[in-house]
Amino acid sequence: MALSRLLETAISRPILTTSLAITLAYASIKYYHQRSNDSSKPISVNYHFTRHCNYQCGFCFHTETSSRQLPSQDWQHGLHLLKQAGMLKLNFAGGEPFLYPKTLSAMCRYAKDVLNLESVSIVSNGSKITERWIRENAKYVDIIAVSCDSFNPETNIAIGRGTSGENVTFLRRVASWCAQYGIKFKMNTVVCSLNWDEDMANHIVALAPFRWKVFQCLLVTGENENEERKRDARKLLVSDEQWKVFCERHGHLECFVPESNEMMKSSYLILDEDMCFLDKGDGEETRSESILKVGVREAMKQVRFDREAFVKRGGVYEWGREEESGCGSESGLLMEELEF
Ligand code: SF4
Repeated sequence: MALSRLLETAISRPILTTSLAITLAYASIKYYHQRSNDSSKPISVNYHFTRHCNYQCGFCFHTETSSRQLPSQDWQHGLHLLKQAGMLKLNFAGGEPFLYPKTLSAMCRYAKDVLNLESVSIVSNGSKITERWIRENAKYVDIIAVSCDSFNPETNIAIGRGTSGENVTFLRRVASWCAQYGIKFKMNTVVCSLNWDEDMANHIVALAPFRWKVFQCLLVTGENENEERKRDARKLLVSDEQWKVFCERHGHLECFVPESNEMMKSSYLILDEDMCFLDKGDGEETRSESILKVGVREAMKQVRFDREAFVKRGGVYEWGREEESGCGSESGLLMEELEF
């Protein structure tokens, strides 16, 4: 029935007018209720369960300010709460997660076998990953991302990613193990003053990551903004113009996913070693109370999380392990963006 006819009928019959008003009011309340529920769901969470790292990257913004790690009953409880609150994807990060291979293995197994999450991923500097670990844990991991900022060993050393220029060797090794054991391989790069003019396109095509995340070097107050912190990233910053030049040089690559400083701020849900959410946006870094103490919803309210920016930066994509595509694939599929 056309809307005008429906209205005419409703106006001529007062009882129908009242029913229509009630129905519309109910639909509006339900719509806004769903929207607010959606924005409070931790769909994709980055759990930095350790701050300990064997590298000293000059721009690091999650530095070793504590050596704490939660006992297994606590992290299991925390991950369970997140799943109940709507988590679909979990990314383990550090520090360097592979400094604790047994803990990492237990976490991945719990996330897949017990929580049945859609996607489990790990971000690593690649130096401590072994073939044995991958072989034994492949079915619990969908994605492994390795961070590497240059294909020039001297540049990686100058940045602080290792001391002997071995970073690229590790990167290639992990890429081949991922291909062998059916895990999606991803690469992360931070664009800084030491690598912004490098052309990495041919190397990326040869490695064929399904996603190449490229970040603009970021200052985070309390982590890397001056000489009093563990890192001082000021000398490594790039101008917007240098960032643009790097992006234009690599923009033709299908797997290329750039993230400027503006896109990064507040578009990640970062959980630290105590299961507190961190806000690394503008100004001083802020920290929520632990989800173990106040629950997920309350802890999320204590930090900014911009769901729109999360979706805009491509935070939701084909994150399971079945779909294949990549920079080296001639028929690479476009990453599908889901709607919330
Ligand atoms: S690999 Fe570098 S950026 Fe990553 S945690 Fe270690 S020092 Fe920080």
